[in-house]
Amino acid sequence: MRKVLLLLLALVLVAAVAFGFVKNVIYMIGDGMSFNNLVLASYLEGKRLTLLNTPYTGWVLTHSADSIVTDSAAAGTALLSGFKTNNGMIGMLPDGTVVPSIAEIAAKNGVKVGIVVTCRVTHATPGAVYGHVESRNDENTLAEQLVNSDITVVFGGGWRHFVATGGKRTDGKDLIALAKAKGFDYITTRTEMLNYHGDKVLGLFSSSHLAPASERSGEQPMLWEMVDKALEVLSKDGAPFFLMVEGSQIDWENHGNDVYGMWQEVLEFNKAFEVALEFAESHPDTLIVVTSDHETGGLGLSTGGYTMDIELLRGYKKNADWLARESGGDIEKLKSLVKEYCGVELTDEDVSFIEAMKAANPSYGYSNAIGRILSNKAKVGWTTFDHTAGPVPIFAVGPGAEHFVGVFDNTDIPRIIGRLAGYPLVYPTIEVPVQ
Ligand SMILES: [Zn+2]
Repeated sequence: MRKVLLLLLALVLVAAVAFGFVKNVIYMIGDGMSFNNLVLASYLEGKRLTLLNTPYTGWVLTHSADSIVTDSAAAGTALLSGFKTNNGMIGMLPDGTVVPSIAEIAAKNGVKVGIVVTCRVTHATPGAVYGHVESRNDENTLAEQLVNSDITVVFGGGWRHFVATGGKRTDGKDLIALAKAKGFDYITTRTEMLNYHGDKVLGLFSSSHLAPASERSGEQPMLWEMVDKALEVLSKDGAPFFLMVEGSQIDWENHGNDVYGMWQEVLEFNKAFEVALEFAESHPDTLIVVTSDHETGGLGLSTGGYTMDIELLRGYKKNADWLARESGGDIEKLKSLVKEYCGVELTDEDVSFIEAMKAANPSYGYSNAIGRILSNKAKVGWTTFDHTAGPVPIFAVGPGAEHFVGVFDNTDIPRIIGRLAGYPLVYPTIEVPVQ
């Protein structure tokens, strides 16, 4: 009897080494999310975000193949495939050589794959899960690649790249029909999602991106609701799964230098992490890795005077995009909205700055200027409206989480995940001891 037990134990150990000891992977990417985003959101909440209580944490460096400041396409490729590429490229090396993502490798080996985002599912980060294009702008091709991939669950926005008419396609292809032929159920509302009990689903809840977290309502689901349903669908038959979750719009609020908008996006992402954590607690063979693709905005937690006005920020009720849209460019209207929803009086100097920014950049200048001014009123600073080369945080929970302590290159992360989960990576792995 003892011999049999020992033999069984040996077999289990061999299986663990051969296939990895992580069964499920939840890979969460806060787009453009910085250390300071998480710290400022924590101060605003008056308590640490759950993410900051994660036991294992480190830093990630994010430069791309052709720039010290990456974009989301090159960063997504690094985080999903383990290779540097040029800004703008997805799922291929700078010379055009296609590289598979760990999700694709996993799917070929019986692992179910899911994507949950709040942007178009053909945007750069989700695109890096399944896509291979020279330009991230080629979202029609990405939509085709998605429908033809081995993915089981897709929740996000962007049906305009899938429908034959009334969207952005010019080739007349009906990718919704193709998706259905490939076994996807197609849904478009939060109600349909909450009541969904099938096995393979494409949920596109908006023509383009979902509304920002601070304004989303009605039939567009929140990130945590999509994560909850994706975990239910992916785990129902007990097969291993890989789920990529993106807090897509943290980046955009940072681009807009918008503290209120960033705060609400970070809270949504943190709540999605809590849902993942709850799942992992009842499924202890689940590894959760949370990181970011790059820093955006260069958020600085004080512009001087050894202080920040957290109380003023806590009173903000609307994001800069909303204020810009609602005021319609009318400065007097903007002044009264900013007073009503943020408790801030705009000065003549503020108005000159807003008008100059608007003239210089008709698309985003007006909204960006409002975000920058509302930040500065509370002594919060930003270095840019673009990305920066700042390091980003990484957090891990679950089996193998201790391998995510230290300072990493972004290309290390999928290789470590792949090795821990036993995905047969098709390129030399960095040495990671498997327990
Ligand atoms: Zn990004």
